[in-house]
Amino acid sequence: EAEARLAEHGKNRLAEGKKDGIVKKFLLQLADPMIIILIVAAVISAVIAVIEKETPTDVFIIMFVVILNAVLGVIQESKAEKAIEALKEMTAATSKVLRDGKVINVKSEDLVPGDVIVLEAGDAVPARIIESNSLKCEEAALTGESVPSEKHETVLSAGENGDVPLGDRANMIYMGSTVVYGRGKAVITATGMDTEMGKIATALANVAEEKTPLQMKLAQLSKILTWLVLGICVFIFAFNVIKSGDFGIESLLNTFIIAVSLAVAAIPEGLAAVVTIVLSMGVTKMSKRAAVIRRLTAVETLGCTEVICSDKTGTLTQNKMTVTDFRSANKELLATAMTLCSDANPDENGNAVGEPTECALVNFATKSGILKPEVSVKQPRIGEVPFDSMRKMMTTVHKTSDGKIIQYTKGAPDELLRRCTKIITENGIEPLTDKKRAEILAQNKEMADKALRVLAAACRMHDSEPAEYTSEALERDLIFVGLCGMIDPVRPEVLDAIKACKTAGIRPIMITGDHKDTAVAIALELGIITDPSQAITGAELDSLSDEEFERAVDYYSVYARVQPEHKVKIVSAWKKRGKITAMTGDGVNDAPSIKTADIGIGMGITGTDVTKNVADMILADDNFATIVYAVEEGRKIYSNIRKAIQFLLSSNMSEVITIFTASVLGFTILKAPHLLWINLITDCFPALALGIEPGEKDVMHQKPRAKNEGIFAGGLGFDLVYQGILVTILTLAAYFIGYVTSGGELTIAALADASLFADAKACGITMAFLTMSMAEIFHSYNMRSQRHSIFTLGTHNFVLFGAMIAALALTTAVIEIPFLADMFDFAPLDFEHYAIALGLSIIVIPVVELVKLIQRTVAKKKAH
Ligand code: ATP
Repeated sequence: EAEARLAEHGKNRLAEGKKDGIVKKFLLQLADPMIIILIVAAVISAVIAVIEKETPTDVFIIMFVVILNAVLGVIQESKAEKAIEALKEMTAATSKVLRDGKVINVKSEDLVPGDVIVLEAGDAVPARIIESNSLKCEEAALTGESVPSEKHETVLSAGENGDVPLGDRANMIYMGSTVVYGRGKAVITATGMDTEMGKIATALANVAEEKTPLQMKLAQLSKILTWLVLGICVFIFAFNVIKSGDFGIESLLNTFIIAVSLAVAAIPEGLAAVVTIVLSMGVTKMSKRAAVIRRLTAVETLGCTEVICSDKTGTLTQNKMTVTDFRSANKELLATAMTLCSDANPDENGNAVGEPTECALVNFATKSGILKPEVSVKQPRIGEVPFDSMRKMMTTVHKTSDGKIIQYTKGAPDELLRRCTKIITENGIEPLTDKKRAEILAQNKEMADKALRVLAAACRMHDSEPAEYTSEALERDLIFVGLCGMIDPVRPEVLDAIKACKTAGIRPIMITGDHKDTAVAIALELGIITDPSQAITGAELDSLSDEEFERAVDYYSVYARVQPEHKVKIVSAWKKRGKITAMTGDGVNDAPSIKTADIGIGMGITGTDVTKNVADMILADDNFATIVYAVEEGRKIYSNIRKAIQFLLSSNMSEVITIFTASVLGFTILKAPHLLWINLITDCFPALALGIEPGEKDVMHQKPRAKNEGIFAGGLGFDLVYQGILVTILTLAAYFIGYVTSGGELTIAALADASLFADAKACGITMAFLTMSMAEIFHSYNMRSQRHSIFTLGTHNFVLFGAMIAALALTTAVIEIPFLADMFDFAPLDFEHYAIALGLSIIVIPVVELVKLIQRTVAKKKAH
């Protein structure tokens, strides 16, 4: 039925903005002003060539390369888009829905009208209520009202115009709003574009893509470089024209095409695109290891993370609880109270399913001979005050078979004890004296010191059914029943992750609603703290002023018995200190702190929709170790992007300087098709291959990168310049060796006159072409590490290797296959010339290795 309705009503999602078709994408690639100018100039020169009865081979090559470039651009763009689509798919919301009598999780987009959904605090919703327990919803997105409104199953009376205003529809809940409190069930009345949200959705359909700081910096840099390159090209054009004194249209066009080709080759238009592609490839990889990134910007910030604030339960520990200890004068009553005041239930095999803390308690009861299905029949639940992490307790009210009303409350012992006035002892119910309180607190501490999470239970009798189910009315004058201590083992992989944090200069911090002693015991075990004094409770935190706390924040690594608003205080204090802070969260009330943090992390398993929707990253496995992995990946991705940038810019620089130098000296070193070809084989593949570098061994041995660090930080600017000049020198050397050894005369006049030594010049050009293409390709190997020798990396990049082999094969093909060589105006090289040109190009590796060695030595000296 659900399937049939899905077919009828369509997916429960809002219509998205239209995407560009493949043809439009292709044309957009060509829409670059420089490319258009190049095409126009090429066409004019083709027309002239045809008039003069020549074959315009140059123009064929230019067009071929330009089109191929555009095709590659479209492929890259589609790849990046697909990766982002896949991410959206992964972060898609799910809903708990009743199907075939069972509550199952389905993707929210598969919901259909008529589905009954189960709601809890933290869920994002779309439906009409049929059952509610203190349900409150926040629907600011629709009504602008940020105070949550109460929702219950009721009949609305229509207003004057026969309609009830949206904000007053107390029995309806809407897509785009969230449950902030309570529980309930609701039947879906509309989905997708038929919802209230759908009516206003057109405004939301086209949200602009957010740019990362690096992308913005690069866009700026690209602009500056574009103007710089254009300036140089104009100069080269003017210089050549004036120098030759030939103002004929053909000669003008030729010079013009060279200048424009240089502009096309050297303007780093692909810079920002490379960042997007590398980021999205990285993000896809991270999602396979349970770190799901919701915002591309987060990847960059991740690499700068200096403080990680993490929840304890489920993130540092396994959230697999087992009761191992208890204290009570009446074990049976303790077990009954714990199991009845829980929403977990045993399955067919008797194992409890539900929230782990409650499962542990239900299992404890089962083992003690109190079977939940039996006691719930004898004492059915007639009302409740749901759990929330502010009160740290919950209450249920039951009717016994003899008509009495009994209330059970369970929660954090310190909180619960404050509301108890009596206690169950061997002798029956007695007043709760200070001595008894102290005894209970001592028992609590004894268990907590063993890293046990302790929960207390209490009860209360009522003469009649309570008039209202609120904390104020019910959670007082309680009779203390006993304590249960449960173990929640730490996740084994977290130990290493904490160590990794410390070597990487990252501070791990534990934040928990649990008792201080439990938190300290676990933090000591994990190595988060070395001394119990480094722990502080929420109450102690409240007694510090914001300024006092900011000064002290450095000292504390464990925060216990905190409330969600304390998390905001902690993040804010660290941020005030200028530290890039990550913060995890799961509950409804965690959203503000997640938003405040530089990296907000939502929990994939235990997290609520509310927190997931504001998070920058979601941990599919709720695991602390995954955060550390994500930070490591963030660092690697950033360093890979820098490698790609360095490679692209140093290549472009060598092209510009080479053409500039040759122009000033008055000879042609490379022609337009050659430049475009080099651009084609070097621009995209090696840069992208560098983007998937496995990462260097020491990424997690360095301090976090400063967030405002510039693109050229760490000596990158110097590296770029000397490497650009190096490739230029090698290319010029190749030309001159080819020219002279083929009989060319080494004078300015001979070089400048195209009709003299034409064969020697062709040999020079061919060698220069081979050297420059391959030097750039070999140089991409240098870029595998900015400072380390590429022979000690211990990793391989097969894609980069493949790109190198392909480039070598293609370059050799255009030189050695006669008809291709003819088209490019190459002179086929004999073995010696070929070997010399290739040998020259490979020199980039030892020279850069040498400079790196010097740089490492200098850095070491400085460090001493
Ligand atoms: P963390 O913040 O590390 O996830 P936590 O799970 O202990 O820790 P909360 O869920 O806010 O944080 O719980 C706070 C306290 O409330 C717990 O230490 C426990 O004493 C009590 N508590 C937790 N779950 C329940 C429950 N289902 N019923 C009653 N009390 C509970």
